[in-house]
Amino acid sequence: MQIGKELYTGKAKSVFATDDPERYVMRYRDDTSAFDGGKKASLARKGAVNNKFNAFIMGKLAEAGILSHFERLLSDTESLVKRLDMIPVECVVRNIAAGSLCRRLGVTEGTELNPPTFEFFLKNDALHDPMINDSHILAFNWASAAEIARMRELTFAVNTVLKKLFLDAGILLVDYKLEFGRYHGEVLLGDEFSPDGCRLWDAKTGEKLDKDRFRQDLGNVIEAYEEVARRLGVDLS
Ligand code: UDP
Repeated sequence: MQIGKELYTGKAKSVFATDDPERYVMRYRDDTSAFDGGKKASLARKGAVNNKFNAFIMGKLAEAGILSHFERLLSDTESLVKRLDMIPVECVVRNIAAGSLCRRLGVTEGTELNPPTFEFFLKNDALHDPMINDSHILAFNWASAAEIARMRELTFAVNTVLKKLFLDAGILLVDYKLEFGRYHGEVLLGDEFSPDGCRLWDAKTGEKLDKDRFRQDLGNVIEAYEEVARRLGVDLS
């Protein structure tokens, strides 16, 4: 696989062309950011941990019939993925109240949400990823009604699989963000699933094991990601 030019540089990953127009290489960097890029740092090993963590999760989702752009690991920090036409919205499911939900609605962190909530956000750092709904997505042509329905269905399907996977490892899946893209007329899961884009609490102690450790200056950020990986059985070697 020939790696070509860098096409896109995100806050934590870079995307490269390959000799196959249908495939990209995604490189996970050690860079991390929060608050729409307002807080930045470099955390040793993060790129490799998230790359391998994501490969593990995408494999579990594929086993459950949920398809993503992920094809295979290429190196410690690189994965081969399908080229998707990304839909510019973020899909968030919450099982327990935390983060922006608490700020927006004044609910207490830790409140159980039954049924879980579903939210769309526009992917736009300059606008601070505002919350949007189906009608905005249709009015601005970001996705079709069928694609909206599919994103919602897949995001909840992911919840069923991953809530159990994490709980079996003694971890609560509090919330998570997914992004989707189009591939030959189908909606596939894109981007990544790692502790950078979800909240994970130790089921016994409530200890935060995700990016909130960085957001809230709790320390041992990557050590927590590695602990989650270890409990799940992710091969980090
Ligand atoms: N999230 C993300 N990227 C974003 C916004 C949110 O990965 O740009 C994730 C975040 O890590 C959390 C979930 O989506 O797991 C819900 O985030 P929330 O709306 O509570 O926003 P936050 O408190 O992170 O600003």
